[in-house]
Amino acid sequence: MPTLPETIAGILRTTPDALIVCHVAPDGDCLGSALALALACGQCGVQALVGSADGVPEVYRFLPGSDRILTAPPERACAVGVAVECSSLDRAGAFAEVLARSRTVINIDHHQSNTAFGDIVFHDPAAAAVGEQISEVIRAMAVPLTRELAQCLLTAIVTDTGRFGFPNTTPRTLRLAADLVAAGGSIPAVVERVYETRTAGGLRLLGASLQRLALAAEGRIAWTAVTPQMLQEAGAGADDVTGIVNLLRQIRGVQVALLFEVTPDGVRVGIRSRDGVRAHAIAEAFGGGGHAGAAGFTASGSLDDVVARTLAAAEKELHAAS
Ligand code: 5GP
Ligand code: MN
Repeated sequence: MPTLPETIAGILRTTPDALIVCHVAPDGDCLGSALALALACGQCGVQALVGSADGVPEVYRFLPGSDRILTAPPERACAVGVAVECSSLDRAGAFAEVLARSRTVINIDHHQSNTAFGDIVFHDPAAAAVGEQISEVIRAMAVPLTRELAQCLLTAIVTDTGRFGFPNTTPRTLRLAADLVAAGGSIPAVVERVYETRTAGGLRLLGASLQRLALAAEGRIAWTAVTPQMLQEAGAGADDVTGIVNLLRQIRGVQVALLFEVTPDGVRVGIRSRDGVRAHAIAEAFGGGGHAGAAGFTASGSLDDVVARTLAAAEKELHAAS
């Protein structure tokens, strides 16, 4: 019996074409993983398109192939469609429909919960990053691990482990990272761009959001909000919101950090937690998802209303965890 990565490798090696799709609001894991898989397909002579409904954030534009990522879905479906890190089909955003029309749909994900859509489901919540799962597929495809490929996979792993600092980091993660560095991938290249570079507007936005920081549940919850007006006044873009929620969690005694971002699609809520408080459980109560330590969802309603409902759900989860 072939393993799941072997089965997926066999399909990708022989398909006439493939469409590889990232989730909306893409991060380093899904972008690095999707680009790595496309590079491996290319080495097998398979034309693979990569799609990202929300484009590529500036910090990830150094990734090889990122300039060829489609932001609008192709009209014609490909023989194989691969959903990368999508816990449900709708997470593929504008690409969901064309992805679903692929003859074979492959679903590769590591979130706590996944709706198991598609013909082949490779779901491994123990993987620190989807990049770990993609590495297994690429190994089974038996293509050379080029420097570009290694850089894409390393970016996935470095970002989803918070530079190897999150509890999801395992010996498997570190061994893989060592192999990728040996193949020419650079960890400082990721750290410098993703963690050590900000725009002036981004820093001003950080200041404004920390200015309105609030605590709840006797200091166990920290939250703040970002509005379009704040973005405008700071001269910041939507990409600059990333990372603010991680800082809120640093406050001593805080177990849940929440960032509310008012967007045209509703209020986007970013959640970070620790001490066994399940961020994904809070998100799932609102139709979202994620991991134990990091999750999110988007809700309709006014900012005040979404804040009140989310704080109530977070307090409930705090009680369940203690
Ligand atoms: P972030 O706050 O960095 O955007 O997301 C943290 C984690 O939660 C990521 O793993 C992301 O995929 C997941 N996540 C964020 N928003 C949503 C959402 O609306 N639905 C689902 N299913 N997962 C989400
Ligand atoms: Mn991930």
